Amino acid sequence: MAFTLPALSYAVDALEPHIDKMTMEIHHGKHHAAYVTNLNNAIAGTDAEKLSIEEICKSISKYPMAVRNNGGGHYNHSLFWSIMSPNKGGVPTGKIADAINAAFGSFEEFKTKFAAAGATRFGSGWAWLIVGADKKLAICSTPNQDNPLMDIAEVKGTPILGMDVWEHAYYLKYQNRRPDYMSAFFNVINWDAVTERYEKA
Ligand code: MN
Repeated sequence: MAFTLPALSYAVDALEPHIDKMTMEIHHGKHHAAYVTNLNNAIAGTDAEKLSIEEICKSISKYPMAVRNNGGGHYNHSLFWSIMSPNKGGVPTGKIADAINAAFGSFEEFKTKFAAAGATRFGSGWAWLIVGADKKLAICSTPNQDNPLMDIAEVKGTPILGMDVWEHAYYLKYQNRRPDYMSAFFNVINWDAVTERYEKA
C-alpha cells in the first residue's frame, strides 16, 4: 500500500505568528508531499511496500539512498506536524515533565540543550528528544532526513519530539536566523502529543 500525505490537524495559518502560513503551505503541501511521492516511487514493486514507515527506518541500511532520504522525510515530517499545535507551548507537566527534569535537571536546561542540538547541526537536519533503550530521555541530532529510528543513526532511540532545522522550515520568515525560529518553535510544541509518544515508547 502506498504511503500518503497525512492531513494537518490544524489550519495552515494556525501556528502564526510563530510558524507562518506560507511556510506551512510549502513545507507540508510541497516538501512533505514530494517525500511521499518519491518514497512510493522508490519502493514500487519491492517488499518494502508491505512495511510500515517505522519498519523501513529500522532497517534503512538495506535500502537505496532514495528510500533513506524520502522515507526519513516522510517519517520525520509526519511526526513534526503531530507534535505542534496552536495554543500550546509553554512548560510541560506530568510524566513528561518528571522525565525531563530527571534527565536534564530542569526544563530550562532541556531547552538550552535541545536548542544547542539544533544550532550545532551544520547544514540540514533535525534535533530530537528520544527515549533510549535504557528508557531514559536523551537529546541528539541527525543530518539530512535521517532519524534516530534508523539502524545507521549514531544515537538510536524512539523519537518523541523532533525539530526540523532545514532552511525550508524557517527561511521565509526568519531568513538566516535559525535561533529565532527555534525559540518560536517552543511556543507551538504540543506537549500532550509528546507525552502520548513518551508513554508508548
Ligand atoms: Mn522539512
